[in-house]
Amino acid sequence: MQRSPLLISGVLDYAASAHCDREIVSRLVDEPLWRYDYVGLRRRAAQCARMLQVLGVAPGDRVTSLAWNTHRHLELFYAAPGAGAVLHTANPRFSEQQLVYTINHAGSRVLLFDRSLIDLVARLRPQLPSIDTYILLAENPDGAPEELKAAGYEDLIAKEDEDIEWPVFDENAGAFLCYTSGTTGDPKGVLYSHRSVVLHALAAGLPGAFDFSAFDCIMPCPSLYHATAWGLPFAAAINGCKIVLPCDKMDGASLQELIKDEGVTFSGGVPTVWTMYLDHLARSGETAEPLKRIIIGGSAVPRAMAETFQKKYGVAVRQIWGMTETSPLGVVATPTPKVAARGKTEMNDAIWTRQGRLQFGIELKIVDADGNALPHDGKSSGALLVRGPWTIERYFRAENSALDAEGWFDTGDIATIDPDGFMRITDRSKDVIKSGGEWISSIDIENAAVSHPAVRIAAVVGVAHPKWEERPILIVELLDGVTMSAQAVLDHVAPHVAKWWLPDAVIFAKVPLTATGKIDKKKLRDQYRAYLL
Ligand code: ADP
Repeated sequence: MQRSPLLISGVLDYAASAHCDREIVSRLVDEPLWRYDYVGLRRRAAQCARMLQVLGVAPGDRVTSLAWNTHRHLELFYAAPGAGAVLHTANPRFSEQQLVYTINHAGSRVLLFDRSLIDLVARLRPQLPSIDTYILLAENPDGAPEELKAAGYEDLIAKEDEDIEWPVFDENAGAFLCYTSGTTGDPKGVLYSHRSVVLHALAAGLPGAFDFSAFDCIMPCPSLYHATAWGLPFAAAINGCKIVLPCDKMDGASLQELIKDEGVTFSGGVPTVWTMYLDHLARSGETAEPLKRIIIGGSAVPRAMAETFQKKYGVAVRQIWGMTETSPLGVVATPTPKVAARGKTEMNDAIWTRQGRLQFGIELKIVDADGNALPHDGKSSGALLVRGPWTIERYFRAENSALDAEGWFDTGDIATIDPDGFMRITDRSKDVIKSGGEWISSIDIENAAVSHPAVRIAAVVGVAHPKWEERPILIVELLDGVTMSAQAVLDHVAPHVAKWWLPDAVIFAKVPLTATGKIDKKKLRDQYRAYLL
């Protein structure tokens, strides 16, 4: 059979010919709503790819975007990989130190950024030696400070031809570089290939996953810089879905306006977004129509959220689990005939309280502390390992593989798998906190707290929070005979961490240790689980 490589440019060419008139609508920073179709997207992605070539971006080079969910960012999703370059989607929610680290680690030549991030980019500039071109994602560079010598995106692409013959190369070439701070130490880069992105998109659109068709209008609320918005833009293009991009306006009222005006049938995002949305519906008394399905992941879905969506608003919720290292789709909570036959209550219970069911393309295994495989009995819980064509092999620039000898990647999650193939996360072995879909490093906060001379031990754990899913609290054991106020501890920590990382509470108490002398985080999590509720 033919060996045509699976390239991202092929996805765009297909959408532009088979679903040419399907619309793409985008909110923007301080600009009116933008509207075009897949033909328009291809035209401008071609111009953008040519612009990158003119700037000297060669195949394999990295370019960085620092941008929200907009059509211009979507154009970069096709233009950079289409030209053979790698798009590093920087996360503006990272601390400035982490951003500098990731852009330098990526070794990007060009930085394209949204208007609302001008000040941030100006502050980062002196620390970004490899960036030689700054491009403001706007009509022109007005408002960008002199020292950036920024060009305007529209000014630049307007000069370029609207057609392009995409280069053909190995499908294993890099396409996207996504950094995750989900473990300790510096953020780690995951380099998605053309092949992994296309296979992931094909799988995501399946009826047993997101169930996409050309009758859908999808609104991606995961940020485009979060594992390519969970691959939603590509799955949408393959299935001819209309795409609605909310920029950075994820509050309930803004999302509702797009859902109503644009006819959004499908959306996805972290639980925090949907907490705000449900809140808006409750206050305004509106319905969710025409929204029919949403996928929620990134953190565990509260059962009450799924139930309210289904029972009050007729919106079906599917929980998903995944991580940057799995592109990110791992499992999706879809029913089976067997589960459905047990009645609505049990079926809902299965799909709302479990992270999801096994999908083709990603194998799951749970193992005990000695690495022995555990049975899929829904009770045995162990370290969750994954394997498959859109799972990481090694981190960007790493010398060693991230896999064990049999090719399994350890997710850092602890889970059970039941006989129906549903996986449920029961705990986490990685020492981090996920708040509103973004990671907070407990170790960084602990190191800052412990650097105070009065502090003997500092322990940070994530506890349940009604809006942010998890928030950090800090347990401090002081040296004998000293006293200190909670505010004084926070004041000491503040200069060392991002503002939103500051713990919601400081508790002075003895910190429990394990038999091996490590802080017993499990005990602390159990003890303080409901502290902020
Ligand atoms: P993403 O950008 O998709 O959130 P990350 O790599 O930042 O991916 O985070 C992945 C981690 O988030 C998982 O290893 C897991 O700990 C957590 N996670 C993701 N989805 C869920 C879920 N449905 N329930 C519980 N935890 C989840």
